[in-house]
Amino acid sequence: MKRDIKSMTQAELFSAFSELGLPAFRAKQVWQWLQEKGVMSFDLMTNISKDLREKLKSEFDIFGCEVEKKSVSALDSTVKYLFRLIDGEFIESVLMKYKYGYSLCVSTQVGCRMNCAFCATGVGGFVRNLTPSEILSQIHAAQNDMNIRVSHIVLMGMGEPMDNYDNVIRFLKLVNADDGLNIGMRNISLSTCGIIPGIKKLQQEDLQLTLSVSLHAPNDEIRSRLMPVNKKYSVDELLAACREYTNATSRRISYEYAMFGGVNDSDECARELANKLKGTLSHINLIPANDVTESGLKSSTPERIKKFTEILEKSGRNVTVRRSLGGDIDASCGQLRSKHKKA
Ligand code: SAH
Repeated sequence: MKRDIKSMTQAELFSAFSELGLPAFRAKQVWQWLQEKGVMSFDLMTNISKDLREKLKSEFDIFGCEVEKKSVSALDSTVKYLFRLIDGEFIESVLMKYKYGYSLCVSTQVGCRMNCAFCATGVGGFVRNLTPSEILSQIHAAQNDMNIRVSHIVLMGMGEPMDNYDNVIRFLKLVNADDGLNIGMRNISLSTCGIIPGIKKLQQEDLQLTLSVSLHAPNDEIRSRLMPVNKKYSVDELLAACREYTNATSRRISYEYAMFGGVNDSDECARELANKLKGTLSHINLIPANDVTESGLKSSTPERIKKFTEILEKSGRNVTVRRSLGGDIDASCGQLRSKHKKA
């Protein structure tokens, strides 16, 4: 593989061009093609001469993504993309339309190492990390396909962002660049299964993004059954790290809680959860679980979810129930998987 030009910051791109004896205005033009317009090939850079395009091709690769398949929900016009990467691997992204604009749920890895019992991505195992450019390219590919602007990003697709930390941070800086996509940190959510060293590092970055923590259970007994990562980082240690994060950043953490019938949805669980989140800036997002056939886990009933919500509300917790989008195209939380195999 050649150098990954789209993962370079503007300063790095300028210095790479200068080392190749190329003028700064060329670097500026190429940066605009890559970061603003999001073209996936040097041949589409029409204000660059053919000779220079050939030279660039010999030095660099664009780690983009091409639409392999696209499904549009008949229920709510959510779009699920299957993207093909430079080495023939596949990832999925989901585009959702809200009143405030378009939000894209992006993947950070091909597959995942975390093996949560309820999640489809883990089933195929882990393949590799995405480069910063590949995380970014999902946004460009969706924008160019739909001829729209994406205003919000959630890092909640395939993969565990904290398990690909450096590439994710570099992606955040690129997507936030004011002469790139210029998506504000406040419009970005990063979701983790609870890797404590990652949370601590993120705290130091001092970014204005929203941290989401996939909690899904109020105690180790239940959480370890659902999420193997809990055996390494327990609920109490995780919540202590979250408290510290909130104290240091004054940012509210969003706790994701997928509701599984008879597993984590009792009144007792609701009370325990309310207690453990007492006195910390938090928002609880209850997710009616989506069926993943391998797991045998089922969603809680609407009545159970209602009762659970009431207990949390009565205890003074901030709580919402997530609306499910793209249910007819397997685009809902945790249903992304690489069914397509590399050729
Ligand atoms: N690895 C990160 C982000 C990807 S998963 C994380 O764990 O947070 C995005 C969200 O979908 C997580 O909250 C995850 O727990 C949730 N999820 C996975 N499978 C699900 C399912 N079957 N039903 C509901 N939510 C699910």
